[in-house]
Amino acid sequence: MFESLNEKLERSFKLLKGQGKITEINVAETLKEVRRALLDADVNYKIAKSFTEVVKEKALGQDVLNAVKPGQMMVKIVHDELATLMGGTSVDVNLQGNPTVILMAGLQGSGKTTFSGKLAKFLKSKKGKNPLLVACDVYRPAAIDQLKVLGEQINVPVYSEVGNMNPVEIAKAAIKSAKANGQNLVIVDTAGRLAIDEEMMKEIAAVKAAINPNEILFVVDSMTGQDAVNTAKEFNDRLDFDGVILTKLDGDTRGGAALSIRSVVNKPIKFVGTGEKLEALDVFHPERMADRILGMGDIVSLVERAQEQFDADQARQLQKKLAKNQFSFNDFLSQIQQIKKMGNLKDLAAMIPGMGKALKDIDIDDDAFKHIEAIIHSMTPDERENPAILNGTRRKRIADGSGTNIQEVNRLIKQFDDTRKMMRMVSTGKGKNMRGLMGN
Ligand code: GDP
Repeated sequence: MFESLNEKLERSFKLLKGQGKITEINVAETLKEVRRALLDADVNYKIAKSFTEVVKEKALGQDVLNAVKPGQMMVKIVHDELATLMGGTSVDVNLQGNPTVILMAGLQGSGKTTFSGKLAKFLKSKKGKNPLLVACDVYRPAAIDQLKVLGEQINVPVYSEVGNMNPVEIAKAAIKSAKANGQNLVIVDTAGRLAIDEEMMKEIAAVKAAINPNEILFVVDSMTGQDAVNTAKEFNDRLDFDGVILTKLDGDTRGGAALSIRSVVNKPIKFVGTGEKLEALDVFHPERMADRILGMGDIVSLVERAQEQFDADQARQLQKKLAKNQFSFNDFLSQIQQIKKMGNLKDLAAMIPGMGKALKDIDIDDDAFKHIEAIIHSMTPDERENPAILNGTRRKRIADGSGTNIQEVNRLIKQFDDTRKMMRMVSTGKGKNMRGLMGN
C-alpha cells in the first residue's frame, strides 16, 4: 500500500540529512520533492500545493530543539499534516434509528455490494446488530444473486423482489419487512452505472427521499485516483452523503484518493476495504494511515485484527493442550486458518514498522501456507493426532498425496516437533531450561 509514495517521501526527507538546522533553502528543496511525491501519487495539485505551504510555515516557525534533527522534525510535521488532510480523527458510522437505515451509493464495480456484505458482518459482530440486506439493483439480476451469496456466507437475510423494477418500492417494502421481523439495521445496496449518468442520480435521489436514511455511504475504488475524487464530488453535490468508503486499498493504489477526497468533499472517510474477503474491512483512522504512508507501520491495527480473529476460548483450550503435550496437527492447521482470516499476508506484514519496505520485492501471498496445508490434509486423522506414528512409509505416502516431496514433509514434521517442545516448555513454566532444547 502506497509503496511508491512512501519511498519518494523518504527520499525527500534525506535531503535534510546532515543539515544542522532548518533553513528557507533546505526546506524549499525538501518540500519541492514532497510536492512531487504527492503529485506522483495522484494527489490533486491544489491540495499538494497548499499542503506543502502549510508544512513550510510550520517547519520554519519551529524552534529547533537540539535533541531533534531537522529531518526527524520534518517527518513529524508531514505526518501530522497528512493525518489532518485525511480528516484528523476517525468518524463512526451513524447507527441512530430503529431500524438504522444505511443507503449505499457508488459506481458499478466500485465494490458497493461487497462492502454492503462486509458492513453487515461488521455491525452484526461488533455492535450486535440484526441486519437485513436489500437488493435494489433492479437492472442486473446477477447483482441480486451476488448479494444473496454474500448474505448466506454471513448468515444475514437478503430482501429482494424479482421482477419489480421500482427501487423506491423495494426499499420501502424492505424497511417495513425489517420492522415486522425485528431487524434493527437495513443496508440498501443500489444500482451503479459504469459512469455518472442522470438516470442513476435521479433514481438514487428518489430512493433517498423515500426512505430518509440515517446514513448515506459513498463507495469508491481507490485505484481510480483523481477520478475517484471527481466522482465523489458529483455524488456529494447530488446526495450530500455522510461518509466515504475507499475500497481496494490492498492493490497498488498510489494514495491520491485517500489523501484528496476528504478535503474536496469535506466528508470523512469512514472505512477502507482491503481485500475481496468479507473480513477485509478496516475502520479508517487518519493517524494510522499517515503512519503507514510514512512506512512507520500500523501495529495498533495489526493487534486489533488479531484480537478480532482469535477466539479467547480456543486460545485457552490450546494452552491446556500444550501443557499436556496434546498439541496436534489439527490444532496447527486451525492456527494457520486463523492467521489467514486476518487478511493478505503482505498487508499484515506491512503493518509492522519497517517491514513494508523490506518486503517490497518479496512475493508472499495467501499461498504461503499452501504446501503446509496440503501436507496436513494428506495425513489421516490418526496421524494428525499422533504425529509419533509418522514413519518413513507414511511420510512417503503423504508427500505423494500432497504433491510435495519427502524433504518438505520431513521439514514440516521437524518444525512441528520443535514448536511443540518449545511451547510445552513455555506453557509449563520450564522456559528456564530452554538450553536443553538446543542440545546442551
Ligand atoms: P459493485 O458493482 O459496486 O457492487 O462492486 P462489487 O462489490 O461487485 O465489486 C467489484 C469487484 O471488486 C469484485 O470482484 C470484488 O470482489 C472486488 N472488490 C470489492 N472490494 C474490494 C477490495 O477492498 N479489495 C479488492 N482487492 N477487491 C475488492
